[in-house]
Amino acid sequence: MSMARIYMDNAATTALSGEALEEMLPYFAEHYGNPSSIHTEGRKVRRGVEKARQKVAQAIGAEAGEVFFTAGGSESDNWALRGVLLPLIGENKKHVITSSVEHHAILHTLDDLEKQGWQVTRLPVDGFGQVSAEAVREAIRPDTALISVMAANNEVGTLQPVQEIGCIARAAGVLFHTDAVQAAGSLPIDVKAWNVDLLSLSGHKFHGPKGVGALYVRKGVRIAPLITGGAQEKALRAGTENVPAIVGMGEALRLAEANRPETAARLEKMRNRLIAGLMARVENCRLNGHPEKRLPGNVNICFPGVEGESLLMRLDLAGIAASAGSACTSGSLESSHVLRAMGLDEEEAKGSLRLSLSGDNTDEEIDRVLEVLPAIVAELRSLRS
Ligand SMILES: *Cc1c(COP(=O)(O)O)cnc(C)c1O
Repeated sequence: MSMARIYMDNAATTALSGEALEEMLPYFAEHYGNPSSIHTEGRKVRRGVEKARQKVAQAIGAEAGEVFFTAGGSESDNWALRGVLLPLIGENKKHVITSSVEHHAILHTLDDLEKQGWQVTRLPVDGFGQVSAEAVREAIRPDTALISVMAANNEVGTLQPVQEIGCIARAAGVLFHTDAVQAAGSLPIDVKAWNVDLLSLSGHKFHGPKGVGALYVRKGVRIAPLITGGAQEKALRAGTENVPAIVGMGEALRLAEANRPETAARLEKMRNRLIAGLMARVENCRLNGHPEKRLPGNVNICFPGVEGESLLMRLDLAGIAASAGSACTSGSLESSHVLRAMGLDEEEAKGSLRLSLSGDNTDEEIDRVLEVLPAIVAELRSLRS
């Protein structure tokens, strides 16, 4: 009998939930109308889109009119930054504040905007990967237009003080965007309590489909479209809607939110057991990220003297899917910008492994990883010495 595979790369993507799939199926064939059409077929599909919008809005404490569907987290991040800054060209607001551990959808977009004349402050993080809200306050200038700091980090799981930063930003009259792609479904999100003006979501990180996301834009915030050409999404995001994906994302987020307290508690227990078990069984290893202020399903551990990539391949052969750094950096030889910003050296960054859990993981799977991983680390270390 072959052993079932163990999937622990849920920060890269999650399996589509059966409930979300069920909700999507009719919209692939049966309900094919264009949601912008005024006939019966169109109106039927429009209702599906609007129901999904309400589900997303409800999950984050927003109004439906403040939720805009996009083609994913990267687009939402791009749109938040470019869309807010574009209308400010020619005004005396040209400064943006961010952190050095953001997703590349933020950092590379800001690199691009910097070439176009914007000024960017990239705040450092502490050894746990946390940005200081006080440092955000001190970085604000009279010409600061926008602050973008993520809610939870995709590599090490560290939570950022978004609520404090939101207060500071609001008091200073500066717009605040947060990339909540990893937080959604794992942490309670409340756009009002957080004082955020813009917030990014991605469907496939909470058991929804890939290629769909949302951007929350607080009512009254001025934002330019990224994609022009139609009146969809209040003429702010042109293009006929990806209806099955939108419907699936709405249901996936509703479900994740309904199950969140129970799932998060279970994940935290599995996460803590995995971390403690590895610490006890492997000599000379360290937890990356904050010990408590971290995503309930994130485990990221540094094994000095081991190549993360080799570890990954050996785990894969043993039936376990994990990740070294983020999915976006694997395949490239660069070490993680997040781990480097936290002060790890090149070798430590390259010797780090991420195991990201979801509600689909079980205690038996944790046992199996605790059985397999220490032996692989020991073997790889012995090959090197
Ligand atoms: C996955 C991820 C993104 C990108 O989302 P896509 O939907 O894959 O484009 C952005 N930010 C964070 C924090 C992520 O984890």
